[in-house]
Amino acid sequence: MFLPQEIIRKKRDGGALSAEEIQFFVRGIPDNTVTEGQIAALAMAVYFNDMSMDERVAFTLAMRDSGQVLEWTSLDLPGPVVDKHSTGGVGDVVSLMLGPMVAACGGFVPMISGRGLGHTGGTLDKFDSIPGYSTVPDPELFRTIVKEVGVAIIGQTAQLAPADKRFYSIRDTTATVESVAMITGSILSKKLSAGLDALVMDVKVGSGAFMPTYEKSVELAESIVAVGNGAGTRTSAILTGMDESLCHAAGNAVEVRVAIDYLTGKSRPARLHEVTMALCAEMLVIARIATNEQDARARLQAALDSGEAAERFARMVAALGGPADLMERPDAYLETAPVIVPAPALQAGYAASVDTRGLGLAVVALGGGRVRPQDTIDFAVGLTGLVELGEQIVIGQPLAMVHARTQAAAEQAVRQVQAAYQIGAAKPAAQPMIHRSIRP
Ligand code: URA
Repeated sequence: MFLPQEIIRKKRDGGALSAEEIQFFVRGIPDNTVTEGQIAALAMAVYFNDMSMDERVAFTLAMRDSGQVLEWTSLDLPGPVVDKHSTGGVGDVVSLMLGPMVAACGGFVPMISGRGLGHTGGTLDKFDSIPGYSTVPDPELFRTIVKEVGVAIIGQTAQLAPADKRFYSIRDTTATVESVAMITGSILSKKLSAGLDALVMDVKVGSGAFMPTYEKSVELAESIVAVGNGAGTRTSAILTGMDESLCHAAGNAVEVRVAIDYLTGKSRPARLHEVTMALCAEMLVIARIATNEQDARARLQAALDSGEAAERFARMVAALGGPADLMERPDAYLETAPVIVPAPALQAGYAASVDTRGLGLAVVALGGGRVRPQDTIDFAVGLTGLVELGEQIVIGQPLAMVHARTQAAAEQAVRQVQAAYQIGAAKPAAQPMIHRSIRP
């Protein structure tokens, strides 16, 4: 028998907690046998004294096992169960294409995705902009769609990793979010509750990234790879660029349009394609569907060229209650904003850098994200036609088109977009999109 205060004291004094102590404490989180004060105190002790990799594995598994863990073996799927998770960004629409692409290559992708957080967009909010699409289906329907279509992208349920929900909300209000040990446990407990064979983590780097520096992004990626593998799921990570919006649009319905155009082949923007292909290829390799990266890329390109990936997306949307002809007639279903105005450049030169976080916050202010958790989202608003870094700009040229509900909201967003871009005299050096891969 343990006492929560003794566990807190041990961590406060720099000791290493045993797996049993961690399990005892974490079990008390969802059933309220440890108090909010005790959870906050442990979080602060971990913030200062950290956790070893063994402690992180025990912490992740305890949080995962605080709720339901999905199992797929009884379905006898003819391929591995694999997923991707990203630390979040702006214009990061990758999941919408990646799930169907990997499914088209023989993977099974039960993607439990999240809502927007801070300045970042959320995959779930993007799917909610598709009329009829249910992000909270009955668990049996979710299983059936994963089995038959190969991919289903839905939201977190209260049954998955409930300890993290309480723990995170306490960290959020006690200045203890920024701990690589706890971020690792929080992310992985939720992802691993989906019963994955393999996971690829997309850790963003740059002005729109969740982690504040390149070094911190590397530290998180290394921690997730070590702990994911330690917890029994083959895990790798790729560090990808978030120095500007990943695609030319940021918002919800506007990003769904980008995903549809990508899948149907109408438009595959280069940076978005590079990151999507790198993450998908890593998934096929780590899930042992492909023998190497070259093989993986060839299969993925074939899935795009044949229309098979687009077909998987369409089937998933229809199976979850969305329109059967979304791909053919997106404009009939995806909401558009009543006010669409340009954000003109105030200076001439080259797009030298952009405060990507600022762009994300402009979308939130337009109503495309939440200020408070209970807020509803305006799916129609956002930014499109975002200028890319390195582009030559003339005065008055749109840096982006602002899609807003009201004229006043549009005017504010125009100012935010203008403030976010730095226009310089010299063309900036192109930044790589793929910084580094971290494998077990
Ligand atoms: N996202 C999470 O899910 N958990 C964290 O701790 C930080 C970001």
